Amino acid sequence: MAAQPFDVIVVGAGIMGSCAAHAAASRGARVLLLERFDLLHHRGSSHGESRTIRATYPQPHYPPMVRLSRRLWDDAQRDAGYDVLTPTPHLDFGPKDDPALVAAVANGGATELPAAGDEGGERPKWAEVFKLPEGWTAASSELGGVMKATKAVAMFQALAVKMGAVVRDRAEVVHVARTQGEGKIVVRISSGEEFHGAKCIITVGAWTSKLVKSVIGADLPVQPLHTLICYWKVKPGHEHELTTEAGFPTFASYGDTYIYSTPSMEYPGLIKIAMHGGPPCDPDGRDWAIGPGEGGLVEPVARWIDEVMPGHVDTAGGPVLRQPCMYSMTPDEDFVIDFLGGEEFGQGVVVGAGFSGHGFKMGPVVGRILAEMALDGQAGTAEEAGVELRHFRIDRFEGNPMGNARIF
Ligand SMILES: Cc1cc2nc3c(=O)[nH]c(=O)nc-3n(C[C@H](O)[C@H](O)[C@H](O)COP(=O)(O)OP(=O)(O)OC[C@H]3O[C@@H](n4cnc5c(N)ncnc54)[C@H](O)[C@@H]3O)c2cc1C
Repeated sequence: MAAQPFDVIVVGAGIMGSCAAHAAASRGARVLLLERFDLLHHRGSSHGESRTIRATYPQPHYPPMVRLSRRLWDDAQRDAGYDVLTPTPHLDFGPKDDPALVAAVANGGATELPAAGDEGGERPKWAEVFKLPEGWTAASSELGGVMKATKAVAMFQALAVKMGAVVRDRAEVVHVARTQGEGKIVVRISSGEEFHGAKCIITVGAWTSKLVKSVIGADLPVQPLHTLICYWKVKPGHEHELTTEAGFPTFASYGDTYIYSTPSMEYPGLIKIAMHGGPPCDPDGRDWAIGPGEGGLVEPVARWIDEVMPGHVDTAGGPVLRQPCMYSMTPDEDFVIDFLGGEEFGQGVVVGAGFSGHGFKMGPVVGRILAEMALDGQAGTAEEAGVELRHFRIDRFEGNPMGNARIF
């Protein structure tokens, strides 16, 4: 295989790399997808039971991406012949004057729910589960849903293979270079084996800073964080009420702590409610048992549940299941989607990274953008759909460590 030239070599088989491999292979490109660990491993960011999709973003550049991505999820499901996405309503709530909430509701086209007891507006039955603190507001939107995470990654890998992509796992990329003269990209894995491609796409999640540093010596501000998914026991009698079948929404709660949830689905009788963020970590030296205080990722969630969903979820014994995961944070929480650049690589290597705990829903659109950048030098169809890539450039951090950061 070493001598076989590929059009595109994709490094890293999480959701982004798997979608990019599928998008490039669907265009007829000869694609190689390389993964360091076993396929569908649990050591990165794309594993597990569920991720949410929503269009309510404080930053106006995300809703068009989400909408295109939503269509691409449907296309992929149709091609695969099975579903990974369960549509649900989505609910955003928090203090009425929270600027991020106000912007997210406006940008996502969400509709404010009438307050309990208000006449004239219809409140969905599930709204009664929440007891909003004084001064809070809630808005629901139709574009919501739960993706089965690992199943979705497997789906895109299977679709990529169906379109002719070659997939190799246990293949850690240790070096990427450009050949003199021909200008091909050479990718070397830890066994010493080398692969040649016209272009390379790097989608290595929490390992991005390390790999980019070793490849071109540049510092990309992508900070790995340890985070925790928590499943809590639903109180007896309320199990059905909090399910997707009963129409219960995915939700996001703004304010001092950002809390998110998916309806009771994957483990009957349990509901996932967790907190955005976590302490910094080294992806190669993780402390799986993060110990007393659990990085501050459990207690604030329990307090929030007791206040906002009283009587519905049992917090007394703590979460029933805890599943560790990693975020790859940029200082402004915007993605990095760009050519690696520099004299050696120019447009030869494309990077997709820094998905900052909110990228999964956008996997199919990011995959398409990365593939278009690699194959065409620009993301034409994505831009036609209103996706603005200038927000994701690497040079936004030059002389400006906080990048696009805005005060919300
Ligand atoms: C707890 C949690 C909840 C989340 N919830 C949501 C949500 O509800 N909605 C949403 O949209 N997003 C959500 N996200 C974010 C989303 O899951 C991530 O943005 C997304 O999975 C990132 O995918 P990735 O492909 O960039 O990274 P990864 O999945 O980590 O993939 C990178 C891959 O590269 C491989 N790799 C690394 N180095 C090398 C190398 N040298 N050679 C070869 N391979 C290599 C890794 O092994 C890994 O498989 C959540 C994330 C977490 C952790």
